[in-house]
Amino acid sequence: MTERAQQIAARVEVFVRETVIPYEADDRRGGHGPADALVRELRDKARAAGVLTPHILPDGSHLTQRETAIVLRRSGLSPLGPLACNTAAPDEGNMYLLGKVASAEQKVRFLDPLVAGTVRSAFFMTEPAEDGGAGSDPSMMQTTCRLDGNHWVINGRKKFITGAEGASVGIVMAKSDDGACMFLVDLPDPAIRTARVIDTIDSSMPGGHAEIDIVDLRVPADQMLGASGEGFKYAQIRLSPARLSHCMRWLGLATRAQEIACGYANRRHAFGKPLIDHEGVGFMLADNLIDLQQAELMIDWCAGVLDTGSLGTAESSMAKVAVSEALFRVADRCVQVMGGTGVSGDTIVEQAFREIRAFRIYDGPSEVHRWSLAKKIKRDWKAAQA
Ligand SMILES: Cc1cc2nc3c(=O)[nH]c(=O)nc-3n(C[C@H](O)[C@H](O)[C@H](O)COP(=O)(O)OP(=O)(O)OC[C@H]3O[C@@H](n4cnc5c(N)ncnc54)[C@H](O)[C@@H]3O)c2cc1C
Repeated sequence: MTERAQQIAARVEVFVRETVIPYEADDRRGGHGPADALVRELRDKARAAGVLTPHILPDGSHLTQRETAIVLRRSGLSPLGPLACNTAAPDEGNMYLLGKVASAEQKVRFLDPLVAGTVRSAFFMTEPAEDGGAGSDPSMMQTTCRLDGNHWVINGRKKFITGAEGASVGIVMAKSDDGACMFLVDLPDPAIRTARVIDTIDSSMPGGHAEIDIVDLRVPADQMLGASGEGFKYAQIRLSPARLSHCMRWLGLATRAQEIACGYANRRHAFGKPLIDHEGVGFMLADNLIDLQQAELMIDWCAGVLDTGSLGTAESSMAKVAVSEALFRVADRCVQVMGGTGVSGDTIVEQAFREIRAFRIYDGPSEVHRWSLAKKIKRDWKAAQA
């Protein structure tokens, strides 16, 4: 690991442990995520501490994925850490995508404020299951876009759009006659209407997850991201690093949950000895250590593949399944080790459990990744026979 990444990661860890964690008791945290006032306050502190957007260097270049992994893991030690440091989803993935695909003008207008941490963004792809829209299968997308003079006109419905409430930048996916397209839009816009913010199991993302009606949204032609019909190609560019960065951040939170559970098991006594000395408890914590170590190695391996310039589609599928399932086992065992305290809001372990449960769904449910890996296995087998 490079010296620069180790230094950045160490600074981020000190900031999260000393400055961010005390905010976990702040009553501006709610069921639909922390309030924007809290996010702004934390970002001001991160800016002052020199740890805002730490994975993007002053010249606009990114740390490598392997370097990013150790930095984002530290920011994830608190569910508020990624928000404070501007390493949170969906902004982190959106910044990555804009860095790769946006034009120079689009970067100045939409990317720079995101990197500066002064605004938030949202990514509009999923659609309501009731309408038969895009979900696990993005090709089912029903939102349409058609050219009208110098503008594209977009109509459709979207669901589970993280952070749409309160975002200033939207990346909206829709289908033209050429295929999928992506658009950059300024938010709020009267044509993008929040039908509701959905109550979900997780609560770490500001603005929550919204159901949205898009009614005759007019977007100037120069706000199309890339070319018409190439939207799914750009989604692929975003997907592998974005799903891996979720693994990095949640590894941080699972590590913290393990620290808390270990503290509990060492301090708390039952039947004449500390809980940790009961094999049932000690083994759970030992299994956690194994899962955490395997998750870290899996992330590092996949990050190394992405650093070669590969899209890493199969590797990021493997990493996403392995890491999300391992971290969920870790969080579940931490809850169990801590008894009633584990399911209470008295520690962050309960939130870790909820957040990591949701992570097994978004950025591709485990079954979809296994299914696409099985298709690859079949393809490779056939190719080997030919
Ligand atoms: C907390 C959260 C935040 C989100 N944020 C965003 C966002 O910001 N922007 C956005 O566009 N979307 C977002 N999503 C949506 C997310 O990407 C979708 O929920 C996900 O792609 C699954 O789609 P779906 O919910 O329609 O499930 P469905 O497509 O209805 O699938 C349901 C289940 O069917 C099974 N399944 C599906 N396909 C297969 C298969 N091939 N083989 C075996 N089993 C299969 C899986 O178990 C899957 O969980 C978010 C979701 C959540 C929960």
